Amino acid sequence: MPKKGKAAAAAPAPDPEAAVEPNAPPPPEPVPPLAVLYCEVCTYPPEYCEFGASLTRCKDWLKESHPDLFDRYYSDEALQAKVGTLSLEAQAKLEKEVAKKEVKAEAKVEAALKKKMASQIIIKRSERNKRKCITTVSGLEAFDIDLKKAAKQFASKFATGASVTKNLQGLEEVVISGDVSDEVLEMIENEVGVLKGIPEENVELVEEKKKKGGE
Ligand SMILES: [Zn+2]
Repeated sequence: MPKKGKAAAAAPAPDPEAAVEPNAPPPPEPVPPLAVLYCEVCTYPPEYCEFGASLTRCKDWLKESHPDLFDRYYSDEALQAKVGTLSLEAQAKLEKEVAKKEVKAEAKVEAALKKKMASQIIIKRSERNKRKCITTVSGLEAFDIDLKKAAKQFASKFATGASVTKNLQGLEEVVISGDVSDEVLEMIENEVGVLKGIPEENVELVEEKKKKGGE
């Protein structure tokens, strides 16, 4: 019978925590083809949601789409195990901080949305002289639309000139030659090409006419 005890005594068991020896074979690293899951709300892996600023929404999402993971991270036992080492005071403080952060983040999202919804797209038809009209489209940038791409799209759609220029207020707008205001409105309504995500009620058609007699 071989004596195990003797061999073990001669070579001390390697300490797994010790630094890897230069000529030691690399430690076996089983790499299962695991699909990393990211939170759809904050984009962190779910176990890091708490470091984001949208934990409440993250939790709702996780509960809905991955109830098993939700239990693993947020069940009473899981939370107990996690905060067990913190004092009650520290726990309360932590919770307060998280809540504060969340409120702030939500307010930011809401403000951005509000700003967007309050933004107006103005399609203005202006007469340059008797024969020449231009159509100016302003406000597109509030809806995250690339003005250059929009100009390009208008130019090819109407086979006319279209460019991005700065107006008197220093804001960029798309200027198209010709009276294409109705067509532009229609394109926005039908969300053609880059003109996506603009609610109809945020679009206004304006006519800038030269003063004429009558009417
Ligand atoms: Zn998250």
